[in-house]
Order: sequence, then structure tokens, then C-alpha cells
Amino acid sequence: MPYKAISGIGEFGLIDRIASLVEPTLQAAPGLLTGIGDDCAVYQPAEGLLQVATTDLLVDQIHFDLLTTPLKLLGSKAISVNVSDICAMNALPRYALVSIAVPSSFSVEMIEELYQGMSYAAKEYGLAIAGGDTSSSRSGLVISITMIGEVAPEQLTHRSGAKPGELLCVSGTLGGAAAGLKLLMREKEIMLEHIENNEPYTKSAMAELKEYREVIQRQLLPIARLDIVRLFHAKNVRPSSMIDISDGLSPDLQHICRRSNTGALIHESRIPIHPDTRRIADELQEDALTWALTGGEEYQLLFTIPKEEYQAISDEKEISVIGEITDTEEGILLSDIYGMSIDLTSLKGFDHFSS
Ligand code: ADP
Ligand code: MG
Repeated sequence: MPYKAISGIGEFGLIDRIASLVEPTLQAAPGLLTGIGDDCAVYQPAEGLLQVATTDLLVDQIHFDLLTTPLKLLGSKAISVNVSDICAMNALPRYALVSIAVPSSFSVEMIEELYQGMSYAAKEYGLAIAGGDTSSSRSGLVISITMIGEVAPEQLTHRSGAKPGELLCVSGTLGGAAAGLKLLMREKEIMLEHIENNEPYTKSAMAELKEYREVIQRQLLPIARLDIVRLFHAKNVRPSSMIDISDGLSPDLQHICRRSNTGALIHESRIPIHPDTRRIADELQEDALTWALTGGEEYQLLFTIPKEEYQAISDEKEISVIGEITDTEEGILLSDIYGMSIDLTSLKGFDHFSS
């Protein structure tokens, strides 16, 4: 890769490069009156719509590892994780502010790759990158994105709102992101061993990764389910509650139940496990169901809906009914394939502050 030091073009030179890379996203948000170049971005909200705002922080060595993460994919993922939060409110993303803290070892080309990924993803989702902030970093790369979306008041969906008797649904398949992460961690170990022993990191290891391509993509290049939100709007369906699966199916279901003051029962046999996940779990001597229940970073939508309303989306192959909402006294349970009940509150998901 060619190498141009950031110090050679300075902060403002770098912002100019960033501005030209995100320029193609600007047409996406019709309400955006001023993008990069002034002290603030200026946005004219659409009449009658509510604005939703979210922010996500991505920190080197906490949320990603540059040894196994191409910068283009990291840029795209940084956008997608925010879009996923907007989708969880049943809203549409409109624009984003992107702040970065960059280590001095980074080249101009590396930042360009990062923004190429962000710009590509933003265009795909139909949102504009409208501004941000740039700083140096004495430790690793930090990316902070704030995103604004819009939604009609009658479509807005919270985590609260689930009622006993309603169906519990999930989009897409689960377990793939956890499988992808395990494989990347294994790959990193192999890479580090090669470096330690002063051996070249041979192509064979990477070539083997090809057969795992799909789950690695689930980890490195997640796609927020804006298609499902558009489907709800098109079919005039409003989930009674919704969350995106960032911590794991089980912990995120618990968020819905806690905020809605309900219990839930899910059926193991109905959980849509990513087709490659079982094979990979067997290979790594791990458990695909555990990945599907507690693996984070899936970015699928978990939602509840009254039975009558579900009819309008029952043909949708990307949506699975995995259980139902119950009274709070019944707890949050998984019925396994033998009909045994497992208390989901005893399973652990990812928590930044637990050891
Ligand atoms: P200020 O000194 O007011 O913070 P800056 O010089 O940091 O202004 O930013 C100039 C313009 O460039 C602003 O419109 C800002 O939103 C935009 N900008 C700065 N850094 C970034 C970035 N990393 N990504 C996108 N836009 C940025
Ligand atoms: Mg600034």
C-alpha cells in the first residue's frame, strides 16, 4: 500500500480528503442544507416526523482488532451498527456525524480506506455523512458516530410495549457473527505464532478461511435490517416492541421483557441458526445454540407483534416466529428440543464491565 504521512497534509488536508470521499452521500438526505465545511451541519427535519438520535463508540482492541479487520469493512461496520439502532426504533437513518481519533502511525491512505467503507455503506442505507471531528490519538484508533433518523409518531417503536400473548419474532439467522469472531481469533493466533517464529504467514491459512467466508462476513460486514423496517412501513405494520441484537438474543430479549414488564418463552427448535454455524461449532468443539443465544453483534431485529398484525408479514422468509410473550411471573424461558425449560436469565451475554 502506498504510504503518505498524515503530518504531510495536516488536519485540514485530511478533512478535505474526507469531505471529497463522503461527498457522494450528500444527495441521500434531502433535508441536509449544509454538510462538511461549516461549524455545524444544518438539517431541515421533515414535517410531522420525530427525530431519533443514537451514538456508538468503536475503540481499537475493545471493539475491533486491526490485525483481522480491513479498514474498509470497519468503516462500513461503524455505520451499520448505528443504522441498526435507528432501525430498532422502526425509523429511517438520515445523517451521521463521524469523529475519529487517529494514531500517528496511520497513513492518509488508511483513513481514506476507512471513509471509503463508511461512504459506501452510507450510500447503501440512504444517509449522508454530514460532519464530524478529527483528532490525533496517543493510543489506538477511536471512531465515534452519532446518527439521526426520522420516523412518523405512529410508527415509532420502543423496547417497552410487548404484551402477553404476542408473538416474538427475529429477522435473519443467528450464531454466524459469533462463529466468525471465533474463527478470526483463531486466525490471529496462527498469525502471531508465525510472526513470533519468524516464519512467513502462508497463504494456506487464509485460503482455508474462504470456506468460512459467510460467517466472517457476518462478523466483519454486518448489514443493518433497514429492509425489514421498510417492509413494516410498506405493510403498515408496527411491532409492539423492538430491539436490535447487539448483545445477544438472550440478553436483548431480557431488555424487552424488563422494559415491557413481561416474561417470554422461546422454542429452541424455532431459533433460526445460520446454516454454517453448526458445522463450525462442531469443528471448534463449541455449541451453536449458545452462540445463537449469547453471541453479540448479530444486528438482527428482535420484535414482538400481536398475532392479528403478524398475518401481514407471515410470508416473509427473513422473519421467524421464535416464541411468545408471557406474564412476568412465568419468567424468561427457553424450551429445548426435549421440552425442558431453561431459565435464560442464567445465561451470560457480553458485558463490557464484567470479568
Ligand atoms: P471545528 O474547529 O469547528 O471543530 P473542524 O475544523 O474540526 O471544525 O471541522 C471542519 C468541518 O469538517 C466541519 O464541518 C466538520 O463537521 C467537518 N469534519 C471534521 N472532521 C471530520 C471527520 N472526521 N469526518 C467528517 N467530517 C469532519
Ligand atoms: Mg473540530
